[in-house]
Amino acid sequence: MENELLNIKNNAMSLILDTNDSEQLEEIKLQFLGRSGVLTQAMKELPKIDPEKRKEVGMLANEVKITIENAISDKEQQLKHTNVRIRLEKIDVTNPGIRPPLGHLHLITQAISEITTIFERIGFTRVRYPEVEWDWYAFEALNFPKDHPARDDWETFFIDTEPNKKFGPMLLTPHTSSGQIREMQDNKPPIKILNLTKCYRRQSDVSHVPMFHQFEGLAIDTNLSIVNLKGVLDYFVKSYFGEKRNARIRPYHFEFTEPSFEVDVSCGVCSGRGCKLCKEGWLEMGGAGMVHPNVLKNTGIDPNKYNGFAFGWGVERVLMMKEGIEIDDLRLLYSNKLEFLEQF
Ligand SMILES: [Zn+2]
Repeated sequence: MENELLNIKNNAMSLILDTNDSEQLEEIKLQFLGRSGVLTQAMKELPKIDPEKRKEVGMLANEVKITIENAISDKEQQLKHTNVRIRLEKIDVTNPGIRPPLGHLHLITQAISEITTIFERIGFTRVRYPEVEWDWYAFEALNFPKDHPARDDWETFFIDTEPNKKFGPMLLTPHTSSGQIREMQDNKPPIKILNLTKCYRRQSDVSHVPMFHQFEGLAIDTNLSIVNLKGVLDYFVKSYFGEKRNARIRPYHFEFTEPSFEVDVSCGVCSGRGCKLCKEGWLEMGGAGMVHPNVLKNTGIDPNKYNGFAFGWGVERVLMMKEGIEIDDLRLLYSNKLEFLEQF
């Protein structure tokens, strides 16, 4: 009898261990513990055993029963967890997919494209001139005196190379105005271009970066006046900043324009009434003016026959003056911080 019970236990344990199927486990349970199960039947034989041995065999039979019951219950739990995991691992191909992050154009690239489109509508062709330039194009031909502070090491990045005999030292262009000279030298009037490129200056703070973008308009023809310039400025300000914003010009001094102006845009925050952000309702945008006769002469254009106007502003600067764009620190634009860039 003892051997029979131990055999039942071993058989049951090996079947339970081998199965990975809940239905099969249920059958095993019936096979051993059910009303007509092997163990139940064996236990029915207990009364027939010798009274002396009955107690001992009875205890063994109980132990076998408990062992089998526990093993079955453990296996049940184990199969339940496995089934959940298998369900989770199944892929439902009818589910919508996960969109890969696509990204978008950088804020400055968006601004460049918007500015270009605005000027293209009134006939300005986008051009791009070298970022590495000669002194002659960046300063000399633009009428800058030899001792002008912009020609100092502390303002401009000079390139450590042999100066050119005709054009002087090599440098990273500090403004788009050098493009005026190249354009006028290579093309006959009428000229109507928008030079938009990277410029470089020794500067870095919350509103300045060493590498920035400028866009510069140049129009040369036979009978242009300040009225034409003002018309273009008004058109740009209303197209880029919105109908409610206005442009004004103030007298200023630049080497390569005469007369020269500083261009202001009415403040978008206070609508020109005056606030913390602006100076009495106006924000400075950049320079403009009528092309200096010396500049025309330097590029071989007859100042008695032709005249023109030019204006040059920073892309980053006009972007920051736009409503809805709040950038505390201009350097963030070039920081590659996705948390910042993804906002726009
Ligand atoms: Zn204001």
